[in-house]
Amino acid sequence: MKPDSLFAQRSIVAVALVVLGIAAILNYVQEHVRVFNREQDRLQTQAHVIEENLNQTLVALNGVLGDIRQQLPAVEPADNLNRYLKTLSDGMPSVRTLAVLDVNGHALAASRPELVGFQLIDPDYRQQAEFQMAGRLDIDTLYISPPFRSTLGAFVIGVSRTWTDSRGKVGGVVIATLDRNYFSPLLDSIRYAPDMKAALVHWDGDVFLAEPEQNGLADANFLRQGSFFAEHRQSGRDITVLPHVRFSQGDARMMIQRTVKPAGLKMDKPLVVEIDRSVDEIYATWRRDARLFAALYTLILITSLFVLHAYQRKQKEADLREAAAAQRIEASERFMKTITDHLPAMVAYWTDELRCRFANGAYLEWFGKAPQELIGTRIQDLLGEELFRKNEPYIRAALQGERQQFARTLIKADGSTGYTWAQYIPDRQEGIVHGFFVLVSDVTPLKEAERALAESEWKLRTIIETEPECVTLLAADGTVQQMNPAGLAMFGAASEQQVAGTSMGGMIDAPYQPAFNALLADVGEGKSGTLTFELVGLTGIHCWLECHAVPMRDRNERITGSLCVMRDITDRKKAEQELQHLAQTDSLTGLANRRHFMALAEQELEHCSRYGGPLAVLMADIDRFKKINDTHGHKCGDAVIRRMAELCRKTLRSADVVGRLGGEEFAVVLPETDLRHAVDVAELLRQRIGQAEVHTDTGEVIRFTVSIGVASRTDKNADIETLLAQADEALYAAKNSGRDKVCEYEAAATGVGENGGAARPKS
Ligand code: GH3
Ligand code: MG
Ligand code: MG
Repeated sequence: MKPDSLFAQRSIVAVALVVLGIAAILNYVQEHVRVFNREQDRLQTQAHVIEENLNQTLVALNGVLGDIRQQLPAVEPADNLNRYLKTLSDGMPSVRTLAVLDVNGHALAASRPELVGFQLIDPDYRQQAEFQMAGRLDIDTLYISPPFRSTLGAFVIGVSRTWTDSRGKVGGVVIATLDRNYFSPLLDSIRYAPDMKAALVHWDGDVFLAEPEQNGLADANFLRQGSFFAEHRQSGRDITVLPHVRFSQGDARMMIQRTVKPAGLKMDKPLVVEIDRSVDEIYATWRRDARLFAALYTLILITSLFVLHAYQRKQKEADLREAAAAQRIEASERFMKTITDHLPAMVAYWTDELRCRFANGAYLEWFGKAPQELIGTRIQDLLGEELFRKNEPYIRAALQGERQQFARTLIKADGSTGYTWAQYIPDRQEGIVHGFFVLVSDVTPLKEAERALAESEWKLRTIIETEPECVTLLAADGTVQQMNPAGLAMFGAASEQQVAGTSMGGMIDAPYQPAFNALLADVGEGKSGTLTFELVGLTGIHCWLECHAVPMRDRNERITGSLCVMRDITDRKKAEQELQHLAQTDSLTGLANRRHFMALAEQELEHCSRYGGPLAVLMADIDRFKKINDTHGHKCGDAVIRRMAELCRKTLRSADVVGRLGGEEFAVVLPETDLRHAVDVAELLRQRIGQAEVHTDTGEVIRFTVSIGVASRTDKNADIETLLAQADEALYAAKNSGRDKVCEYEAAATGVGENGGAARPKS
């Protein structure tokens, strides 16, 4: 609620309360006046009642007293007069006594016979209320005496008229005494409220009667300087209204003073009726009502303020709640809008009447329409005729409550082509479809990536297909999964199916299989490696391959197999072998050269040491070769050397190792051969050489001999150089002992070696 509204509510309540208050005050002021007027009227009425009563009494008495005066001569003697007076007195309840007095106040006749001869007035009052005959000469005047006590003890007012004798001389008065006891109930009867006071006062101020009776008031005299009574007397008014007077000691009172003086009656002094009431009592009801209303008003005021306060507080709380809720909704909407506007997708809601209720910012990019523009738009108008026709089946199905998804190529607002994946999600509430949500994702990058991937795959496939080397993919168990055409050619396979699923290890030569399996095991552990091996292809073609193997991993980096690239290195391998052969072979004889012989001899010795078999060594040197060279020429010398090599090869076992150490000097290692057998072999060789002939180009025949030294391994620790040295020593002995001989090296009893051994010719 706005502050204005709060203020307005407060103002309305305040104005209502003020108006109510003012109306009530005005009403109570008016009521106050009404109470005043009513009370004044009532008091006046009551005073009037008394006045009327007194008026009638006085008029009647005036008449009666006049009648008595007329009858005086006629009713003599006294007894008759007394009876006459009594009769009259009995007919007038207000009159206590009727009497005829002489000028001295003695009763000549009376309604009460006991008074005859006595003075009527009590001696105590005689002074005060002297029955003065002097001046009472007017026979038409009714004289009203101040109150006095009669001789018989009654408190009375005397009402009298003067009588004259037959000569016209004043004889006295005819008097009637008014009984206070008679007027007392009358006066009391007009008191309609307990606080009301009434008094009957003589013109001279003496109180004749007061109701309720108060101590001393009966004897009081109101005629004091400045008294209300004195003011009334002086004013000359018949009636005085004093709305608010306060006696010296006492409460405030409303007072009515009325002079009793019947019209047409000649009286010497009138009487005054005084009635008054307590102002407090007059307004008691009014005041009680006012207080009650004030209390009620206060209650209304407090209640109104409290209710208003509570209402406004509740309103404020409700307003705050509403504002907070609105804020939350706004924040939530902003949040949703931010999310949807930043989504790389179109998000929308279409009602069952196919009108847009919500669309995000992506529609601007795709359809060139801002979200605000789209609200209320028909889907046909957004999509256009053709696209709507294409999408209509999906729209209808979504409105049937079935979720839809489909791919769609769209032309964007800027003319470019975009690929989308659209989803229609029905908005079903309590079984009724009110519309559907649309989520159209931009899958253009995905499409492009797919295309790039396909292109890349195609390129890779082209490379592999056209690659001159074998590219093959092996499964983790070493079986062939894929192989390119170059690979198929290498392996002699007609198609990929022929090799797919077969073990690669099984296709290569047996000696290389362990190494190849070890390589695959290494690759399985994430390493890469290279291996060269021989292969006999499916068509029997022999070749050498160099294989480089690396692990193949899936997108989780898990090894799934291996990629092997194999190169045909047969030509290179042949060249290498050629070179090696050249490096190891003596070109003249085809035997192992010195270095190669030494290596082979080492191997044999090592084998012998390991298995503990015998081993012998021969050293052979053609005798007097220089002379052959010199005689037949160097070329013929070479032929002799070649023949010597040939005879060695023919005579010795294939397991024996023969080498040309240099010139016409040869060495042989005889494995598994002891000294004796070695000597025999040497002897056989010597003899065959001795029998051999070499024919020169010129038709000459060359014969030659050889000397051979033999040594066998007797010391397990002896190396090949030692054995050769020992055989050489034996050879030296053979030369020295005449040549064309076989000598064996004999170890001395003291030791083995150059210094400790001796050679001797074969016996
Ligand atoms: P001995 O009986 O003491 O062994 O006498 P010999 O003449 O054979 O002496 P020696 O073994 O010292 O002589 C070797 C000769 O062999 C010297 C050298 O001219 C000759 N010679 C070395 N290498 C070749 C070769 O490759 N071809 C030819 N034709 N002669 C060679
Ligand atoms: Mg020699
Ligand atoms: Mg020689």
